Amino acid sequence: MEYSHEVDNMAAILGPSLRTTNKKTLEKVKWPDGAKCAASFTLDYDAQQLWAAIGMGGLLPLSEGEFGGRVGIWRYLDLMDKWNIKATFFVVGLTAERYPETVKEMAKRGHEVANHGYTHQDMSKASRQDEKDDILRCSAVIEELAGKKPIGFRSPGAEFSENTIDILLDEGFIYHSTCQADDIPYRWEIEGKKKELLEIPFQWHLTDSMHFLASLTWGAGHISSPTKVYDIWSSEFDGAYAMGRHFHLLNHDFIIGKSSRIMLLNKLIEHVKKAPKVWYCRMDEMARYWKKNYWD
Ligand SMILES: [Zn+2]
Repeated sequence: MEYSHEVDNMAAILGPSLRTTNKKTLEKVKWPDGAKCAASFTLDYDAQQLWAAIGMGGLLPLSEGEFGGRVGIWRYLDLMDKWNIKATFFVVGLTAERYPETVKEMAKRGHEVANHGYTHQDMSKASRQDEKDDILRCSAVIEELAGKKPIGFRSPGAEFSENTIDILLDEGFIYHSTCQADDIPYRWEIEGKKKELLEIPFQWHLTDSMHFLASLTWGAGHISSPTKVYDIWSSEFDGAYAMGRHFHLLNHDFIIGKSSRIMLLNKLIEHVKKAPKVWYCRMDEMARYWKKNYWD
């Protein structure tokens, strides 16, 4: 019941004035170098903050998050190296401060480090000032560790407010990655005005959390078979490849980092790599390409 309340509440906050352009999708996308489709691998680096931010500060949930910083993130980084894929990490500021060496390593290995808020708080419940301070504090931590100011933002817990887009525009972000209105990027429009902000959407069935996030203290969740999830993810890649879309897989350090799941991801990438002419891109590369070629 609480979950439906959240959705109703968010709809009321955002209202009909906040919407996007592209009334109809762009059917044929021209990807760089004649690629058949685009593929991006992103990871939300939450570790303890996914639980701490929703008031689950007990040792058990926090230790589950800690698995991400100690184990999961390293396995994911090594897997990306193995396949020579440059990923995008949406990093929580407090997580970066807890595990600074992991964020330095992301930058060193050529990945993009993007902003996922400082505390992972629910932005739909934050004041405008609080939300702005939280986002900027995260950017400052990332800039110090990764050497670059982030240009992309994913709202923590996929909850954002009526101020989020304005704050991102004011602070020079060029893309947001929290909505789901298409399977290719699209431009933001607010009250009839086109904005200098791109949405790079994700989809629930292409997240590890929908298949694998479970906790007794949380009182809910799913534990799926990696075989079933491989079937879903590889079929979705085949669809994106056949239709020329953007395949975007979203994982989390402490969820995908479990041994059977990192093997699942390895198997999926093996499948994806068999397909010729795929454009592997970080989200910043996608945003810049889209802006150059599809900004009207
Ligand atoms: Zn998160």
